[in-house]
Amino acid sequence: MIEFRGVTKRFPDGTVAVDDLDLVADQGRITVFVGPSGCGKTTSLRMINRMVEPTSGELLVDGQDVLAADPADLRRGIGYVIQQAGLFPHRTIVDNIATVPLLLGRGKKAARDRAMELMEIVGLDTSMAKRYPSQLSGGQQQRVGVARALAADPPVLLMDEPFSAVDPVVRESLQDELLRLQSELGKTIVFVTHDIDEAIKLGDKVAVFRVGGKLAQYDEPGVLLSRPVDDFVDNFVGRDRGYRGLGFLTSDTIPIGSLPVISVGDPLPHDGWALVVDTSAKPLGWVRAGEGQVTEDALVPGGSLYTVGSGSLRGALDAALSSPSGQGVAVDDNGRVAGSVTADAVLAALPAARDESAA
Ligand code: ADP
Ligand code: MG
Repeated sequence: MIEFRGVTKRFPDGTVAVDDLDLVADQGRITVFVGPSGCGKTTSLRMINRMVEPTSGELLVDGQDVLAADPADLRRGIGYVIQQAGLFPHRTIVDNIATVPLLLGRGKKAARDRAMELMEIVGLDTSMAKRYPSQLSGGQQQRVGVARALAADPPVLLMDEPFSAVDPVVRESLQDELLRLQSELGKTIVFVTHDIDEAIKLGDKVAVFRVGGKLAQYDEPGVLLSRPVDDFVDNFVGRDRGYRGLGFLTSDTIPIGSLPVISVGDPLPHDGWALVVDTSAKPLGWVRAGEGQVTEDALVPGGSLYTVGSGSLRGALDAALSSPSGQGVAVDDNGRVAGSVTADAVLAALPAARDESAA
């Protein structure tokens, strides 16, 4: 657990970067610091590993005041990942990852073996081990940065805009990978970003900062979307927050309607739309009413699929809205058609889901 108690940082030139911060980052969870540029996110983060020292207040890591700790000891338990990975350009990937274990006095072979394991853990092909950082894509370099931070198996991981420099598609896959990793590792992670969507996606709790180093709101993402405390947070959280908030409500209560299905070669329906499935009952696409038989060429692509029991209200609503027939396709865990969801059914389930989430 990381605890800020009335922490202020005033730089020698008088800039107050962080102003009286009270906040607890929970053990084993992802806490995200988000806010516009210059609002004190990096300064707050760097006070945790004492790269910046608080001017006043107390900052405790696992109950110990960081100012009382030996900085080298403190940092041994805290991995640090920055934008553009900060890799050593003249060391191979495997040696970059093995840096910390070697510093900690592990044998060369043990450190390299562990580095190879970590490459696999973060989703890097070990055939890249002997390459140099410049021979990797931006996204791959970020993975190396994460692997290096994990090498000493620190309980705490600080990440400062680690994915900001990569393109949106790669960023999304790095985010997914981090969530997968975290579900296995359970580190205490503090993650800095200026991107509210990234914050909402990754954070178990999200701290929104405003310029002047003041904490504006600290809540779970669903609460941030449904109950921003003021106009600043409302604006920062952005458009469509009502719709995006559906992602944090579960949908066990959505009724699944029956959905008759047909196969290629069957007669076309007499009216409306019909869903066409393959021999294992997986959806292929939709066809409109007409004369003759269903052919592969006539298939209209379907929308997103809603997996029964595993999705959110947002997923169910999106399935309905993106389907050409207006009927969302619900599938089971094996991808077989289980029935339909409609937008009306999702909206009807909303009050119960809200009550459940509030409870
Ligand atoms: P963020 O990471 O949210 O963009 P920072 O924590 O880097 O913000 O900076 C917060 C404020 O502190 C900014 O106004 C920045 O200019 C100022 N600042 C950061 N580092 C220093 C420093 N070493 N000396 C003086 N001012 C600084
Ligand atoms: Mg910063």
